[in-house]
Formats: sequence, C-alpha cells, structure tokens
Amino acid sequence: MKNRRLLLEHVDVPGIDGIDVYVKQGGYASLEKALKKMSPEDVVEEVKKSGLRGRGGAGFPTGMKWSFLAKPEGVPRYLVCNADESEPGTFKDRYLMEKIPHLLIEGMILSSYALGANQSYIYIRGEFMYVLNILEKAIAEAYAKGFLGKNILGSGYDLDLVVTPGGGAYICGEETALLESLEGKRGNPRIKPPFPAVKGLWGCPTVVNNVESIAAVVPIVRDGGDAYAAIGIGRSTGTKLISACGNLARPGVYEIDLGLSVEEFIYGDDYCRGIANGKQLKACVPGGSSVPILPHFLVTKTATGEDRLMTYESLAEGGFASGSMLGSGGFIVMDETTCIVHNTLTFARFYHHESCGQCSPCREGTGWMDKVIKRIETGKGRMEDIDLLVDVAKKIEGNTICPLGDAAAWPVAAAIRHFRDEFEWHITHPEEATKPGAVYMRPGASWSN
Ligand code: SF4
Repeated sequence: MKNRRLLLEHVDVPGIDGIDVYVKQGGYASLEKALKKMSPEDVVEEVKKSGLRGRGGAGFPTGMKWSFLAKPEGVPRYLVCNADESEPGTFKDRYLMEKIPHLLIEGMILSSYALGANQSYIYIRGEFMYVLNILEKAIAEAYAKGFLGKNILGSGYDLDLVVTPGGGAYICGEETALLESLEGKRGNPRIKPPFPAVKGLWGCPTVVNNVESIAAVVPIVRDGGDAYAAIGIGRSTGTKLISACGNLARPGVYEIDLGLSVEEFIYGDDYCRGIANGKQLKACVPGGSSVPILPHFLVTKTATGEDRLMTYESLAEGGFASGSMLGSGGFIVMDETTCIVHNTLTFARFYHHESCGQCSPCREGTGWMDKVIKRIETGKGRMEDIDLLVDVAKKIEGNTICPLGDAAAWPVAAAIRHFRDEFEWHITHPEEATKPGAVYMRPGASWSN
C-alpha cells in the first residue's frame, strides 16, 4: 500500500499489538542492531543524517535537538515521550500506539540508548486510558523478553520505561507544561530558557519527543539515516502520518511520503478519494486546528500557481498571506456546507477553554475572541467587531509564554483574511445567517474556482 510504508507497514497484521507477532515481522531487530553494533553516538548520527523533524508540530530537527542535551557528570538524563495528543483534528499518535504499541516502545529504547537515559517516560493523554492499558501490556511483554530492564540483550545497557496518564488539559502537550505535570504539579508552561535539554524533568537534562518522531527512529536505525533521507523532498524527509478528517470520502490515518501533492492526497484513490457526497472543497486546515485555514483556491496550488505539496516548506509557501503549515498533520477538510464563522468559533472556544491563564494576552485575548465571534455568529455582531478580532489576534501573537497564544490567534486571523465576506454577511444578514443550517455562498462563485 502506498499509504503504509515505514511505520504502518504491518499495522493490519493480526495480533501485531502483541510482541510475538511484532518480532516475527522484524520487530526489535533495530534494537538488536543498535545494541550489538552501534554506539549511542552512532544512533544520534543516523538520526541526524535522516533529516527527521519533530512530528508533533514544530518540525525542529530531531537529531539537532538530541545534540543539545547537556551531559553533566553524575546527573541523570531523561527521555519523555509526548503522547498527550489533543490538538483538534489530530489523532495519528493514538492510532499508532493503539495498533502497533511495540513500535513506540522499540523507538523509546533506541532513543533512550542514544541519549544515555536509563529512565524514560511516556506521558499519555489521560482520556486515552484504553491506549495506556495497551501500552502497559506491551511494556510488560518487553520486560519479559529482556528488551527492557537490566542489561538489555546482554549489552550492559539498563532502561526502565513508565507510562503515565496526563493531567487532562491540552496545555500539558506543551513540553514544559508536560514536565511540570509529570512532576506532579499543575501543567503550567515554564519560561524558557532554560530549555529542557539543560533543565528539564526534576531539573535534569531532558529530551521531549513526539510519539511519531520516536517511532521513526526504528526504521532509521534499521535502514540507515541516508535511506530515510532519500524519501521526501528537500528538508522534508521521510514519511509522515496524516490524520485526515472532515468532509472527505475516505477519512483516516495515512502514512505518506513527504512531497506527495495535496491534490493526490485529497483526491487520489490510495488516499482520501475526494470530497464526500460529491460536494465541493471550500477550505482546508492542513496541520491541526492551530494552523491558518486555506481557502479552496490555495489548497492544492500556491498563490504563484505551483502545486502545493505535503511538505513543511510547500504548505507554508506564501507565508501567512497565502500559506499555512504542516503542523501536527491533522488535515481537516471542509466542504461548501461548512460555516466558517461557526468553525472559527469552535476553535476560538477551545483555545479560550484551554488557556492556562498565566499570561494576560492569552488569558484575556482568547476570552475576547470567543465572545466577539459568538456575538457575530448569533446575529448580534457589529461591523467593527471584525477589525477588533484582527487587532486582538495581533496583540496575542508573539506576546505569550508558550505557543498556545499563537495557536489561538492564527486561526482567527486567517479565517478573517480569507473569509471576511462571510463574517460581514453574518453581521448584515443576521436573520438569514442564524437560521439552522444557513451557510453563506460567495456571490457569483462556486467553491471550486
Ligand atoms: Fe498559559 Fe496561554 Fe500563556 Fe501559554 S500562552 S502560558 S497557555 S496563558
């Protein structure tokens, strides 16, 4: 299957969540290779060569992040897996952990070995209790086979791995809030610097990586960093899990080669097979709810007419004026029946609810955006509300402790940038706009042109 390559290759094999079937499919061979033939530095080197970039959303090079880890004498180092997946529209890590938990566990052991960590953690979203149970069972199997614990495979390397439920807040997915929560405190983001690589869990050097990033270390060690880097285009190397949802004929989790065209991903037979029920594409949020929305004419083509590709660079082409971001890979597609104002309100309400309240621009700004969009949506808006929203979004962006502020501001600013007429219509036609199921249609234009 074109859409199942490195990580999801064996996902449909019956019993792949159990260690015996996983091993039969070649599982834990990368671990054996690393522990018997490679030094920790060799593993870091392969990850650097692979060009792997953080799959949680930021896209920072994983090998470089690892090389920042401080190594003071006599101080423990930690690897923490960020499995607190809760970005609206993103559900690829949950899928991977649920279906093929040993891939994450093998990746955790490999990555811990590379970093010199002897105690590692998987911090999983509290709502995923059933996935936590799957992981705990898989970890117990790995201990029983000698892949975890003391003297793994006779190498002299020791590792203990613990899976722990998250604090039940979106903000706990921010790496420093996650560390606070893991230490048993309220999940408030920390001011950086110091960065976790220097002062992380319990004040010790720590790397926090996303589930997919850690799982990708398994094929990187197996095939070599160069082989991984040969997939993809430019600085977007390897494969990427995309959770596709919304008005698609075949939503789901796909593993794509980075560089695939957005057109092929939406309309191709191997992928989403077009818009559901013969409707037209109206808009797309390609990287989870926090990235800017793209109107239909900028989804498959850039503003300069180039094919839009599923890469970090191509999706961002045109900056915020006409681009978006690959983000976490939560690909949300909207058809012509979607009300953009209502959709923007849903996102704004989410970020308002999830703001931890530490910094005023985010705490107050998200509340104001929620309130003002609600006013517009319910037919009580004023024309000046639209610029007020733009102004509030601008004042949040870049002025907060953590990226949640930006994540709240960008969707609102982008929705107004591309769909201002729809906001205006809600204000000028309150009776029509508040009828159940009412959706604005841009005069003289179908959404397909
Ligand atoms: Fe908390 Fe928002 Fe500030 Fe982040 S940006 S620290 S979520 S108030």
